[in-house]
Order: sequence, then C-alpha cells, then structure tokens
Amino acid sequence: NTNAEWRWDSKVNESKTLPIYQHKAELIQAVKDSTFLVVTGETGSGKTTQLPQYLYEAGVCKDGKIGITQPRRVAAITVAQRVAQEMQCTLGREVGYQVRFDDCTSQDTVVKYMTDGCLLREVLADPVLSQYSVVILDEVHERSLNTDILLGLLKKIFSDPAKATKGRFFPLKVVVMSATLETDKLSAFLADCPVFSIPGRTFPVTCTFGFAVGPKDVESTGYVKEVVKVALDVHTSEMAGDILVFLTGQSEIERACDLLYEKAESIDYRYDVQDQTVEGLLILPLYGSMPTDQQRQIFQPPPSGIRKCVVATNIAATSLTINGIKYIIDSGFVKQLNHNSRVGMDILEVVPISKSEAQQRAGRAGRTSAGKCFRIYTKEFWEKSMPEYTVPEIQRTSLTAVILTLKCLGVHDVIRFPYLDCPEERFILEALKQLYQFDAIDRRGRVTRLGELMVEFPLHPGLTRAVLKAASLENIFIRPVAEILNIFLLFIYGSMNDFATLLSVFQSCKSSDRPSAWCKDNWIHWRALKSAFSVETQLREILLRLQQRDFPVETFDGNKSEIFRRCLCTGYFNNVARRSIGKVFCTMDGNGSMVQIHPSSSLFDQEAELNWVIFHDVLVTSRVYIRTACPIRYEWVKDLLPKLHEVDAYELSSVAREEVTDEEMIKWETREAVSTEDVSKKLEK
Ligand code: ADP
Ligand code: MG
Repeated sequence: NTNAEWRWDSKVNESKTLPIYQHKAELIQAVKDSTFLVVTGETGSGKTTQLPQYLYEAGVCKDGKIGITQPRRVAAITVAQRVAQEMQCTLGREVGYQVRFDDCTSQDTVVKYMTDGCLLREVLADPVLSQYSVVILDEVHERSLNTDILLGLLKKIFSDPAKATKGRFFPLKVVVMSATLETDKLSAFLADCPVFSIPGRTFPVTCTFGFAVGPKDVESTGYVKEVVKVALDVHTSEMAGDILVFLTGQSEIERACDLLYEKAESIDYRYDVQDQTVEGLLILPLYGSMPTDQQRQIFQPPPSGIRKCVVATNIAATSLTINGIKYIIDSGFVKQLNHNSRVGMDILEVVPISKSEAQQRAGRAGRTSAGKCFRIYTKEFWEKSMPEYTVPEIQRTSLTAVILTLKCLGVHDVIRFPYLDCPEERFILEALKQLYQFDAIDRRGRVTRLGELMVEFPLHPGLTRAVLKAASLENIFIRPVAEILNIFLLFIYGSMNDFATLLSVFQSCKSSDRPSAWCKDNWIHWRALKSAFSVETQLREILLRLQQRDFPVETFDGNKSEIFRRCLCTGYFNNVARRSIGKVFCTMDGNGSMVQIHPSSSLFDQEAELNWVIFHDVLVTSRVYIRTACPIRYEWVKDLLPKLHEVDAYELSSVAREEVTDEEMIKWETREAVSTEDVSKKLEK
C-alpha cells in the first residue's frame, strides 16, 4: 500500500530518536513469532505510540485491527490524537479511539486505542476477538481491574493453540506492555512467553525529602500549599527546565494553579538562574476530565525563556510522557478507588502513594538529562506511611460488574479464574451476593435473563437495574421508544428529592436553545451536562438494541413521582436507610451503619419528616454522610429488602465450583467462524 508508505516516510521525524526505533525490526518479528509477548521499557521509550505504527507498517492490519488498551480514558484519547498526527490521518479514520460513552472510530479504523473496559465489552460480544490481528494490553503495571481481567481471559482463551484458532482464520497475537518490573511474573503467567526489553538510557535523578508532611499528616491537605511553595522555589533558584507537579485530583490541581498564578505574578519576572534567563512561568493543569484541546497544550514546548510547570494527577506518572521535564515535585499522595467494607461501597480516597510509585514519579525527571525530584514529605513519612508497592485494583475494589461479565462469558467458577493476583475470596463472594440481590444471577450462580440484559450497560448493576425497570414499564413502553428514558427525566420542581433535582437540571438544560449559555447563567458545569447528554444517548441506544430481544414488561400504579422513585428503589434497595433518632439514619444493608444526610442534600434539615430514604453514595469524613437522596415508602422496598439477607454467598459460589467442566468453552466453540465474505471484504480494503 504505497499510500501508507508515503505517509510513513513523511511523518514527524522525532519518533526516530525514540529508544524503541532501534529495535523496530526485531520487535515486529518478536510479535509475529509467538502468541504472547511481554514488552517492557522505560516510560517514554515509545511503546504506546510507536509499536502499533510499526505493526501497521509491517502489514499486520490486513488480517484485522490492532487494538491497544489503556487503563485511563484520557490516555487513550491523547495517544490516539498523537498517533493520528504522526500517521497524518484524520482521527477516527485509520487511527481512532473508543472510550466509554465516546466512540471515535469508523469502518476504516485499523489502529484502535481504547480503554481496557471497552475491550472487555468487545470480548463479551466476540470472545475470540475475530476482528483483531493483534491486541496490545498497555500499562499493565498499573494493574487496573479491567486489564487484570483481560489478562486472565486472553490467557484462558488463547493459551491453548487449538482453541486459539477456533472461530478465527488466523491466530491472534497478544502483546502485554509494562513500564516496570514484574515482567518475569507476567511471562510466567502467560505460558512462559518471551520478554522483549527495550534498552533505554535514563539519567540520574537526585531526590530530596522535605519537612512539610509527616506520618501524622496523612489526613491533611496542607500539601497543596507546600507543593506551590516548592514549585516557586524551584522556579526562582533552579536552572532552566520544566517542572512536573504531582497532586491527586481536579479541584486540588485547580487550587494549586490559582495559587501559582497569584504568586508567580507578584514576583519579579527576570531571574538569572545560573547564567540562564528564566522569565515567566507557564502554568498548565492536567487531569482526567479536562477538555482535550487544553490537554494538547501540555505537550507543546514552552516559548523560549519561559518555564513550563505542569500540575498533574498520576496520569503523568506513566500513561503520558511530557518532554523537557527536569524537576519533579511529589506531593506523596494519590486518589485511589478503594472498597470500604464499613459502608460496603467503593470510595475514592486520597492515600499516600507507594514507594515504587514515588520512584516512578521521580524517574520522569531523568528522561533526557539529569534531574531533580523534590519530595515534600519527610523521610519518616516515606518509611512509615508509604507501602512498598501499590495494591492491584482487583484486590481493593468491588468486583460486581466484572464477575457478571465473567459469568456472561461462561466463566462460572469465578473463584478459580486465572487471576494474576487473586482478589480476596470475600470480595468475590460479596460481588456474587450483590448480583444475586439485583437478580442478575440465580441461587445456583447462573446468569438470569435480567443479568444478560444488565451486562450490556456500562453502569453499576444497581443503576442498570433501575434503568431497565423504568424501560420495562408497560405504560411507558407503548410510547415511542425515544420516550423510554424520559421516565428518568420527569421532575417536580422544589420536590424533596435530589435525584429529581438533578433531572430537572438535565431536562431544563436539554430543552434550552443554547445549553452552554444556560449552564453559565445557572452556575452549572456545562461539560458535566454535556457528558450526561452523551451518556443518555448511549443508554438509549443500548435500550433500543435490547428492545429487539426478549424484553420484560411490567406495570406499576401511581403518579409520576412515585413511579420514578419506585424504579430507583429497584436499583438502590441496598442503599436504604431508616430514621433512627433525630438526624441519624441507620442503613439496612446488614452493616447497620449510622449515617446522616449531607448538608448539600435537599433533604437536609427535613429529617424529622422522613422515615425511609434511598441514597446514591456515601461521604466519609469524621461522620458518615449520605448524598443524593430521596424519600421512599417502606412498601416499595419491603419485598426487596429480605434479598439482602436471605442468601449465603457461599451457597452462590459452591454450586458453581462443583460444576467445573469444559462447559465454559462451549459457548466459544459453538460460535460460528467469521464468514468468508467478511474476510474478503476486509482484504479488499
Ligand atoms: P511509552 O509508551 O514507552 O511510555 P510513548 O509512546 O507514550 O512512550 O511516548 C513516546 C514519545 O511520544 C514521548 O517522547 C512523548 O513525549 C511523545 N508523545 C506522546 N504523546 C504525545 C502527544 N500527545 N503530543 C506530543 N508528544 C507526545
Ligand atoms: Mg505508554
């Protein structure tokens, strides 16, 4: 294909200086030679952006797409943009990306970046991934839940050569990329597959500890100010070179940037730092939900004489490489999703990073020359508060959605699934229990009809169940399908119902002529609403598709507000609380936690009139607060509540454990091979 070659030649030359470039031919060969391959190399060596291009150039796409997974959605998008630019094609054509609620691919897409969650969904629809020639699991060292599950699945499906070609015309190649360590473990896990190490040069990074954060400050957020102080010190006293600051999340990053703007303005703008003039400071935030055009700025070199200071989340630790960084300022904290067994939910928490994470952060300063890393925490904090390694997500979050996915794939024995690191059995049991409670599986641990519908939704099972309930109502169902979700959009102004308030905002904005202006006028986050619109569109699409299948039909009596809340009850009955005394409520999930209504809720201060409420989430400070709540009637949950207690999770798993047969493969083996027509069409392309 001369067109592709021409593009290749004229592409940005920069990529030829990356460490990976030296090993192009060997690398292509290594991918071709074995089913599994582990590729490792320092961050920034070119794995993510270059390898897919090499494979494309080598012609592997004639057999099928190249899919590359990323644990973070921003990384998937940003990297796809970069690669499209390098290959000089329009994003969404040959190179595209797909993340939850945002699909930027087309018929022509052959290099597809996506989140690991998206690929997991694709495995569900097509377990042998017949559209792909190569699948690259990237950032495996991050040990995200979905990547870990994909690893296990791909191992299970493709490690037996006989099975690996069933339903496919050519064997799939699986490449697993990791920035650090653990390559032996990965290789051993994947049938002792070869490991390809990209030698990379790194420069020494001098690390210093600070005085600001000690073991006693684990709960304080004083580190934001300290980080700003250190950044300004670096700016005024260190040689030229850009700064990368690690903080934990958007609000913190914005606060730090504001402080930096303020302070940087007030200082005299010309510094002669060891013979090099550094004038101003260019301050750039970087976090997950940032608009992508703003993100692009991060990668551009600063104007001459100006120092760039990127204030980022952990995304800059390995997923994205910013050139020119010479100084790191490490807050020592990260935001992490952890399962909180006290409240029985996953909660985003700010926690100290691990030592290995701290080393990774520091390493970002030594990519092209020697660098410095300023840790704002004390040596004592390092020793006492920071764990050696980060615990894999699979060992610290809820497994409900993943277990349902596995079950739908025919993997019944979820306890003996090949996990790279096994989650604790009690978490698996908890997930099984929750699935049973939401009627996604039956007492024998088998997926129900509802469960099969639920797995199609990229939502928490409870929310999915509520949406499905609403969609199954007969009195609504007879209306045009486009109206189905409107059950969720009904609202009564001024009602005591936080869900309804959110919906009222959603609907008012949607029906306004200029939604973005409407948001501005009403002090509402436009981007949040825009993404809510896209979520709604997606959910509608999924419902439309499911409606073609055997879709349940039901009826409820009552007015709109009641129907709305009753639907919510079917998804939130594990988040029911009953008033105990005064402002204190008691949850009904078996933990019997004592909670209070958060001041941000419209129910706050109305507690005296309420007896039963459902709530969306929990905020743990010195007290446990419930947020986004609405009042319900006991009758609505009366029949659901016993489900929370009636089954022993062991019962759900033990039956399945006895039935370990090759049955799980049957579903895949009976799949029809891709039709020859499809293949010839592809070859034509
Ligand atoms: P690895 O995956 O090995 O960590 P990458 O392929 O992500 O390495 O990065 C290789 C190079 O590409 C780095 O120098 C990085 O700065 C550059 N790069 C990656 N994404 C972008 C982007 N969106 N804009 C500009 N440069 C980028
Ligand atoms: Mg990478």
